[in-house]
Parts: sequence; structure tokens; C-alpha cells
Amino acid sequence: MAASNGESPRTLQNFIFGKYVDPIQAASCKYIPVTTPHTGKVIAQCPLSTAEDIDKAVESAKEAFKTWGARTVKDRVQFLIRFHNLLYTHIDELADLIVLEHGKNKAEAMASIAKGAETVEYAMSLPQLIQGKILDVSRGVTCNDTRVPLGVVASIVPFNFPIMVPMWSLPIAIATGNTLILKPSEKVPLTMNRVVALLKEAGIPDGVVNLVNGTVDAVNAICDHPDIKAVTFVGTSHVANLVTERCQKLEKRVLALGGAKNHLIASPDCNIETTSTDVVNSFSGCAGQRCMAASVLLIIGSQPELLERIIVKATALQSGSKSGEVGPVIDKASLDKITSYIEASERGGAKILVDGRPWTQSHAEGFWIGPTVILHSNKEDKALHDEIFGPVLSIYQCSNKEEAIEIENNNPYGNAACIYTTTGATAEWFISRFGAAMCGVNIGVPVPREPFSFGGINRSKFGNFVDITGDGGVEFFTWRRKVTTRWGQENLDPKLRM
Ligand code: NAD
Repeated sequence: MAASNGESPRTLQNFIFGKYVDPIQAASCKYIPVTTPHTGKVIAQCPLSTAEDIDKAVESAKEAFKTWGARTVKDRVQFLIRFHNLLYTHIDELADLIVLEHGKNKAEAMASIAKGAETVEYAMSLPQLIQGKILDVSRGVTCNDTRVPLGVVASIVPFNFPIMVPMWSLPIAIATGNTLILKPSEKVPLTMNRVVALLKEAGIPDGVVNLVNGTVDAVNAICDHPDIKAVTFVGTSHVANLVTERCQKLEKRVLALGGAKNHLIASPDCNIETTSTDVVNSFSGCAGQRCMAASVLLIIGSQPELLERIIVKATALQSGSKSGEVGPVIDKASLDKITSYIEASERGGAKILVDGRPWTQSHAEGFWIGPTVILHSNKEDKALHDEIFGPVLSIYQCSNKEEAIEIENNNPYGNAACIYTTTGATAEWFISRFGAAMCGVNIGVPVPREPFSFGGINRSKFGNFVDITGDGGVEFFTWRRKVTTRWGQENLDPKLRM
């Protein structure tokens, strides 16, 4: 692996029909540098594939679909069982790659692989879950309903979970009989570049999973290709919307998850110790680069003791790659964006209770910013409303629960929200009013784990209105064939009549 040890950076290739290949226009192909956020050093060069490369991947996937789509689901999941095993055999190596190219600490990287493996486990159990339905709908007439794969499908993923988010689509897509084109994030292309070799080692036939590197041109070519039947996308809301509109022009099935601004609410009766620990873990974990991270804490009343505990716990966090330490953010653009929101809040009169900016100076290289806690007095501050995607918590003290729910309901996203309370009635009051689709009670990152599906609403999800993973994923990647049958005597061959 080329790394920041003086070796020349490695030049990545696409993976098509079971082989690593250069982009078609290799001589004129543009490459962009992949950096490690710890130091900013270049560790690889990522090709910017064109529509021709997407075409080649589609041809490969179409060829593979002829036989893969015709296999039984029981047969297909045997390969996923072997792949699941390989994910764990190689977990250390894969986690090191994630640490290198993304910046998460090693424990976070390992946990993200385990979460990705859970979606593989769900797909492994599909023979037990998608056997279809059959009913005598009338005397002598039966109807059965079975799921049919769509054909060639594609998945476009963001930088923040190099394995886990691709695993939101890949296992269900292929277990249900589709063949896939994956476009990893150009910021973290190394991990999935290695994972496709593990898919091959698991025996998954050539062409069932193809990987094409790139950015805008590759994404546009995926949306525009008439033979790609469905697209999943995960990333910022702006791009999720562009991808959805582009796919829908061709009446293509599309599920595009966007950004988030997640609100946690601390009721006056919350447990101060567990709430403060949870809130700090939620906003600072993975350096705040999680779509489920806490970004706004609405405190009902003033609760000075809770504020104090949050300050103490956030201040104690250290930078680094070990368990519990906070890693760097992905790149300079992200660092500059985060810093600009902190500066704007300060200029607008907010109090910076914990300031992460000194980390930027104390690290000679890389993209570091420490956990930052801002106490706002102006409800209009942009940091309270925009997705910042870094280790920043905006706090606002509300006079009552009605004001808190109004703020949460007025945010344009709808990914996650959580209430901290020790009273069931308070929890129910908030849960029944939250505008987010993934809600929590005393849980800072309320991810609905398998077998439940994952997805928000409003500007957190665009396109066809199912969720990703779980039964939403099965619905998305298949169509339903309904067969109504009558085998009355008159329809039988005369020789067979009783
Ligand atoms: P991004 O939108 O910049 O990139 C996502 C993908 O789109 C990448 O593969 C990228 O190459 C491609 N892309 C970027 N700009 C494009 C353009 N103009 N046209 C076409 N394609 C383009 O997102 P990111 O910065 O990689 O990821 C962070 C974002 O993802 C955050 O907003 C985060 O909330 C969101 N996210 C959401 C969820 C969810 O479940 N809702 C999960 C993870 C991440």
C-alpha cells in the first residue's frame, strides 16, 4: 500500500468483469490526489472515469445478469456467506485502510465494518424473508406474488463511511439477483478498491459487482445510462436532489439520501451524567462526520449542571487514532467550512464554550479541529440551521418544550432527533411530534439497526419513497410479479382430465 512513507502514491484502477483495469482513455484520463487527513500527504491517485467507462461497466453487469439473475436466492446468498467471513478475516487490514484514507480512529473503523457486515447478514437471511405470497383468491383461482430483480443497478456513495454505506446497497442488490456498479467517493476510494477483491475471492462471479472511480462525470453517466435500472445515492442534499431529478427524467428508480441537522432535546428531568456522555459522544464521534451525529442540543430551561458536564467531557477529548480519540476531518475544504461557522457564530455574539480551533494550530499538518461547543443566544445563527459536518455542537436554551419542538420541526431536514428524559410521558410527547424519521429516547445516534430500514424524510431523503437496507432495500431492488392462475378441468390437456 502506498502511504505517507516516501513511496510514490499508488494509481488506482476500476474493477470491471472481475479484473482491475485502467480507464478506457488511459492516456488522457485525469486523476485526482487522494490524501490522508492526518497529514494531508497524497497516498493515491484516483482516476476520473468517463461515460465510456460506465458503458463498459454496464456491459459487464449486463453479461453477468444473464446467469446471476437466473440463480435462486438460496444459491446467491452462499457467496455472501463466504464474503461475510472474509470481511471479518480482513477486518484489521480494512480498518487500517479506513483510518488511513478517512481519518476515523481504529475502533470507529472496526465498528463501521461490523455495521456493514450486519447488512450482509440481513441479505444472507433473504431466503427466509422473500419467499413471496400465495393465496386462493377465488374458488379454483390462486394468486402468487414473487420478487424479480431489476437488472443492472448502481450505487453512488459518500466519503464518511467507506465500507458501511456501500454495504447499505450492495448485499441486498446482488442477493435479490441484480448486478451492480458501485461508484465510491473519490476522497476514500482505497477501501472498496480492496473489498471488490474480497468479493471475487468469495467466488462472486465476474461482472456481478463492478467498481468505477470518479466524480461528477461518472455520476451523470450513471444517471443517464438507459440500461441502469435503479440508482441509490448517499451524500449531500444538494447532490441527492440533482441525482434524483436526473434519474427521474428517465423514469429511473432512485433513492437518494441527503444531509442532516439532528436535534437532541434535554428535558429538565434528564439524567445529567448519561445525557452529557451521550451528547458528547454523538457530536464528536467520527469527528462529527456522521449523518446521524448530534448537531443541535436544545436544553429546556437553563440546566447549568448539564452544560458544565458537557464542557468538561468535550474538553477532555484528545486528538488521535486510538479508541476514544478524535480524528481529523476529511480535507482542507471541510476544515475551512467548519472554522467559518465557528467564527460567524462568535462574531454574532454566541459564546464558544469549548473551542476546537487550537487543534488546527497545534498540528503541523493535516486537517484537525477539536470538539467545539457553541452556546447561541440568537435563534437565527446559521450554525444552528446548516449542516456543518464536523465536531461542532450548537446549544440553544429554550423556555419550554413547545419552543424546542418548534425549532426541531422547522428545520428542513428530517433525519434524526432524540429526547433525553426519565419520564415516559415526556418521551411520548416528543416522539409523537418530532419531524425526523429516525427518533431516539436517551440515545444520541438512533440508527435503526438491521432488520429495520434506514432513512429520513424531507431534505434528508429524495426519490422513491422507501428506505434503504432491510425490507425497504428489498422493495427498492425488486419488482413484484403477480400470477393469477386457474387450473380448472377445462384448462387441462384432455388426456390429463380426471
Ligand atoms: P457529496 O454529495 O459531496 O458526494 C457524494 C457522492 O456524490 C460522491 O460519490 C461524489 O463523487 C458525488 N458527487 C459530488 N458532487 C457531485 C455533483 N455535483 N454531481 C454529481 N455527483 C457528485 O457528499 P460527501 O461530502 O461525500 O458526504 C457527506 C454528506 O453525505 C453529508 O451531507 C452527510 O450528511 C451525507 N450522508 C447522509 C447519509 C444519510 O443516510 N442520509 C449517510 C451518510 C452521509
